[in-house]
Amino acid sequence: MQILLGQTLTFEADPFQAPVDAAVRHEARGAVAIDAGRIVAVGPADEIRAAYPAAPVTDHGQALISPGFVDAHAHYPQTAIIASWGKRLIDWLNSYTFPEEARFGDPAHAARIAARYFDLTLANGTTTAVSYATIHPESVEAFFAQAQARGLRALAGKTCMDENAPATLSDTAQSAYDDSKRLLERWHGVDRLGYVITPRFAPTSSPDQLAALGSLWGEHPEVLMQTHLSEQHEEIAWVGELFPEARDYVDVYDRVGLLGPGALMGHAIHLSPRERDRLREAGASLIHCPTSNTFIGSGLFDMEGLQKQGHLIGLATDTGGGSSFSMLRTMAAAYEVAQLRGTALHPAQLWWLATAGSARALRLGDTIGTLAPGFEADLAVIDLASTPAIAQRAARAETLWEAVFPTIMMGDDRAIAAVYVGGARV
Ligand SMILES: [Zn+2]
Repeated sequence: MQILLGQTLTFEADPFQAPVDAAVRHEARGAVAIDAGRIVAVGPADEIRAAYPAAPVTDHGQALISPGFVDAHAHYPQTAIIASWGKRLIDWLNSYTFPEEARFGDPAHAARIAARYFDLTLANGTTTAVSYATIHPESVEAFFAQAQARGLRALAGKTCMDENAPATLSDTAQSAYDDSKRLLERWHGVDRLGYVITPRFAPTSSPDQLAALGSLWGEHPEVLMQTHLSEQHEEIAWVGELFPEARDYVDVYDRVGLLGPGALMGHAIHLSPRERDRLREAGASLIHCPTSNTFIGSGLFDMEGLQKQGHLIGLATDTGGGSSFSMLRTMAAAYEVAQLRGTALHPAQLWWLATAGSARALRLGDTIGTLAPGFEADLAVIDLASTPAIAQRAARAETLWEAVFPTIMMGDDRAIAAVYVGGARV
């Protein structure tokens, strides 16, 4: 048993659906009690300390104790090529991504980059990530081994590609099925690890491969499925040429059993009304990757319209098509993208997307992402005055959200005062 003191922030409802004041509980002098890796109590500091008088106390002062951030879409193998200059999606994949991903058959390289990835994400307060690996089973082994050593809740899967990819990065329909099944059986549910069936996206999978992975998901509906959807206009046109029998991009996945609850659809920017309806009806999650969408010039995700329609939406960095490991920077980019569509997202909505919202999109909404009894004690402690520029603005704040918003817009890893994984400080 231990107690952490600081400001505490708990979402009791989705701030896109409920008024912010009703959705959020804030304690200016709060406490979180933790035992055996889980949160056992959250409330006013005086009450919690009185309830557990023997528990050791760590005082984080005025810092904000938040759930750790949940990054719902990343490519850990792209860690070393983040912020590579130029071009559009398909050029970017060919110029930077594929040459780097070709190195991940080497277990030593994969382990080195996986370790570096978790060092960087933890330094940024991210305690759960859902990552693509490469086509190499070694890349999945490296990710899970490094996550397991750190005690993290983490999810990933072997990226499958058997068309329109370099020969060095191509599997087959059968090997994609076999390798994915073996990795799933080996890792899913071990400690806090989760397997994710991962066709990269429609253009790099044959119809046979998509169907094989749809069959695997049918056999293992307990795991998530992740892929990319409708990121750029050129890509959508290409999908139309490759799959003339499909009604639209969503239908390419739908007709082979790759659409349903637990399908994580990365980007989902340029959707037809039919696609929107079908995604919601199927219970798929849409994963917004705003720094990636501006960096690669993909377009502006319709947060307001999709929230109003009742979609499940998560927030993600899309490292390294995204330009930052920081979910703070990602929240800022989500704010900016929404502004370009005429909507000012409330800071509470941004924070919810980066924690409870993403957790819900991963079907982990009752496990991580919320500061409440029974949830896993993965926490980020946020310094709301981490730089002189932020501190002088926050000093003027009269409300919690006025104090938090400068850190959303200007904060980075310097704002992460402490990180706890399963109740242990890292
Ligand atoms: Zn991606």
